[in-house]
Amino acid sequence: MVLLEVLDTGPGKRPAAGEVPLVSVVLPAHNEGEGIRRALETIAGVLRACGVTFELIVVDDGSRDDTFAEVQEAAQRWAWVRGLRFSRNFGKEAALLAGLRAARGKAVITIDADLQHPPGVIPDLLRLWRDGARVVHAVKRDRSTDTGTARWRARVFNGLLSRFGRIDLQNASDFKLLDRTAVDVLIERLPERGRFYRGLAQWIGFAQASVPFNVAPRAAGTGKWSLLGLISLATTAILSFTSAPLRIVTLLGLVTLVFAAIVGTDALISWVLGNNAAGFLTLEFTMLILGSFIMISLGIVGEYIAKIYEELKGRPTYLVEQSVGFDDEPPAV
Ligand code: UDP
Ligand code: MG
Repeated sequence: MVLLEVLDTGPGKRPAAGEVPLVSVVLPAHNEGEGIRRALETIAGVLRACGVTFELIVVDDGSRDDTFAEVQEAAQRWAWVRGLRFSRNFGKEAALLAGLRAARGKAVITIDADLQHPPGVIPDLLRLWRDGARVVHAVKRDRSTDTGTARWRARVFNGLLSRFGRIDLQNASDFKLLDRTAVDVLIERLPERGRFYRGLAQWIGFAQASVPFNVAPRAAGTGKWSLLGLISLATTAILSFTSAPLRIVTLLGLVTLVFAAIVGTDALISWVLGNNAAGFLTLEFTMLILGSFIMISLGIVGEYIAKIYEELKGRPTYLVEQSVGFDDEPPAV
């Protein structure tokens, strides 16, 4: 049955609470058909051992493989499986948001669908939540499973963010537990479209705690991040957490002003002394350097304008095409 319901009712609305499970687990999945079933079974096993009621929500982020078919099959077999399918690939951030909106639990855990976030950490997340934390971060202990370049990219990314964004994301991951309060704040009070979950979950504050974990190798399939995808995430993150780059533009202007004063005085002295034909090379370099500074500055300002434009258009962050396990409630939100 193809529903083709294109729904996005903006922030704030959740499926009406029926029988509310204690814990909701949100799994963003893009082409994870190979491993999704095992992920569901493993996570359900852990939660069952914890003795909590739960639901697992898979958000199929426009997969081209059989991910959603697997989810549908799983939902037939197990009542605790629910799934949403986006009309195309909207990105992990959108998938996480859709999952948070669909979740009904008193606590919501977000976890990768490739089992790189070890479900064995879930009991620790629950323990810290019961001890009073509203947000529990699972923090990477090491990055040994990442390749050299992936590690290097992560370092640049996190370094830039902690410098400019004043949030510490060193080794942070999207593997987290959020209390219902935190979830409600994230989906109702932060309506921004360019979202960066890792940063937002820290930004909201409340009692936060963290648990270290070792990143597991991928259970199946391959990593989904392209370099371009990462750059775009980094840009969103920086732009939405800080306007420091704009201040850098101003700083750059001040530096060039000082430079201009020195070079200008020098030129003036040369002119007074009568040898005003010299300095062609200086002129050329100055022009080139200034030109690049101006272009870079325009680019930075342009990025912010683009962000404003994106937010202003008010397009939905994602479109849901199909859902399973949502009974008679409207699919997702
Ligand atoms: N993912 C997604 N949409 C995307 C890319 C990734 O929902 O456009 C999901 C993916 O299925 C996985 C998680 O996000 O569950 C992390 O992706 P991946 O394993 O590729 O990244 P990494 O482990 O390198 O962070
Ligand atoms: Mg992964």
